[in-house]
Amino acid sequence: MQTNINTFIGFNNKFKKSKAVLFGAPFDGTTSFKPGARFAPNAMREDSWALESYSPYINKDLEDIKLCDIGDIEFPFGNKAKSLRMIERLTTRIIDQNKIPIMLGGEHLVSLATINSLYKKYKDLHILHFDAHTDLRQEYLEEKLSHATVIRRVWDIVGDDKIYQFCIRSGLKEEFTWAKKHTHLEKFTYKTLKPTIKKLKNKPVYITIDLDVLDPSIFPGTGTPEPGGISFEQILDIIKKLSKLNNVVGFDLVELSPKYDQSGVSTAVAAKVLRELTLAVIR
Ligand code: MN
Ligand code: MN
Repeated sequence: MQTNINTFIGFNNKFKKSKAVLFGAPFDGTTSFKPGARFAPNAMREDSWALESYSPYINKDLEDIKLCDIGDIEFPFGNKAKSLRMIERLTTRIIDQNKIPIMLGGEHLVSLATINSLYKKYKDLHILHFDAHTDLRQEYLEEKLSHATVIRRVWDIVGDDKIYQFCIRSGLKEEFTWAKKHTHLEKFTYKTLKPTIKKLKNKPVYITIDLDVLDPSIFPGTGTPEPGGISFEQILDIIKKLSKLNNVVGFDLVELSPKYDQSGVSTAVAAKVLRELTLAVIR
């Protein structure tokens, strides 16, 4: 019998021995415009085999770290609450073993479940959020749970001054106004990232990257593309800065929707971002 090679490249160790555990949360039930993020985890795994496990940017190899990929959660279609509970339960199992969860969405709502689980363990949890969108609506189409409300729901858990938002270029006026009192929101750029990292150096930090933070010219494969985003070089620069954090307790990459990008560039970008971020924050 051959071993299963349907993992992300370099994530081929046994669960017990691994420092970080990758899983897919292929849920896109609340996507407001174009659904399809459920196809992201497997598309990234497949693409990763065209990627080297070695990064010349940071001179490290995924093979140097013990990583595993336990596959995807199988969700009951249409059942949002149960899907979130399943993610939360899996995250708790991973962190109970003192391992770091790495989640591939799916749409952004999935982050709420991992953060809920991590907060039970780390009461001083801080969130670094990269996105084109504020995601701070109180409700979206009368729904409290949506990818447009996810960071507001995270705030319900962690409270004021724990959420840092970067590169935001879309949202309602009232979301930006609300953010002034409750989160640290930087519009368009990430100039405040460096001092933020200095401040949070030894705190427990969760990183959530909504990949639509990237410009649609290099990342068209997403449900709600928003022109005016950052470049690949800029996300590499962000990742380099994130490598200064000493206590990243989990991270996720969400909102890749591979079928809207016939060229495949979005999936290639997402896979490379995963490699770089893993090498930068998992030691
Ligand atoms: Mn977004
Ligand atoms: Mn988002």
